[in-house]
Formats: sequence, structure tokens, C-alpha cells
Amino acid sequence: MDHQFEYAVPNLALRHYVVPNLASFVIPFSIELSPEITERLARALAKAVELIAPAIRDFRMITLIFGKPPAYAIHVGTGIEIYYADMNQDPIATAGNHRICLHAERIASLSAFPIDAAVIVILEELVHVWMNVKDETIAKTATAYLYGGLVVENDQYRTFGQIFDRLTEDARVDQSK
Ligand SMILES: [Zn+2]
Repeated sequence: MDHQFEYAVPNLALRHYVVPNLASFVIPFSIELSPEITERLARALAKAVELIAPAIRDFRMITLIFGKPPAYAIHVGTGIEIYYADMNQDPIATAGNHRICLHAERIASLSAFPIDAAVIVILEELVHVWMNVKDETIAKTATAYLYGGLVVENDQYRTFGQIFDRLTEDARVDQSK
């Protein structure tokens, strides 16, 4: 039974860049990851924690499982915990209580420019857990505010730049009539 899961194990490298006074609240587990992916995720996690930190009154300890959907499995004490991502929804990241499950390879492959999408994905999950927000629109709006330079439209993130680009395009179309 166990062999169908790739168990995530504690990965201290993933909290390497998190500021020391918050690192004790962040417990990352991961499946086997390349050094490049580990570094990319560690920096994104640290940035997300840095962005949300000023907004949090009481930090609670959270476990982040960097793995691969649908199953995220870890050993805890003498038992195991397995979390299943809802594959009907976008399973890049899911959060519940004090657990965040993250699709490691997919998040690491997200573009970092002009906005760092890996930071945004992790930040949104931190909003869900640390701010205790269930509602998606509120979570995304808070994430956009904390990240800065982002707006939420139809539950999608947009940069101000993209919106301005689109307006510019519209203007160009109008002029060519
Ligand atoms: Zn969400």
C-alpha cells in the first residue's frame, strides 16, 4: 500500500532563506527535488513569508508539503498522514488547517517575471492558513494587496501592466478604424 506514495520528508533547505524568527513556524517537507528546484522554492517561500509577516498577529505552526498531486504523504510520529488534492480543481496548491500541499515541480517552473508566480501561489496558501480565510476571492484579494502591483479580476490575478497593455491594444484598434 505504502509504495504507491512518494513520501515527503523534512527538508530544512526549503526554509533556509526564511527569516530566523519566523522559521520556527514553517515546517517544510518535500519529495526528492533537484538542488535548482529546491533553491527556487526556498526563495519563493521566504519571499511569501516576508510579504505576509507584517499582516499576521499570531503565527501558527504550519506544515508545507512540497510534493505532487493527488497524494501528499508524510510520516508524523509513529503514523502517516496522507492528503489528497481535489483533482477536479487546479491542484497546484491546496490548504487546510495547518497544512499546505504544493505541487513542487509545477510551482518551480512558473515564470518569475514580470511577477513571481511561485511567490504568489505560496503567498495565497499562507493567506488561507495564517489569516484563516476560506473564501477564494477574499484570499486572492488579500494576496494581491500583500504582493503589490496586482489586481484580481474574475478570480484571476492580473498585473496593472497587463491591464494597461490591454487598454493600449484597444486604443490602437480604435485608431486604425
Ligand atoms: Zn486559494
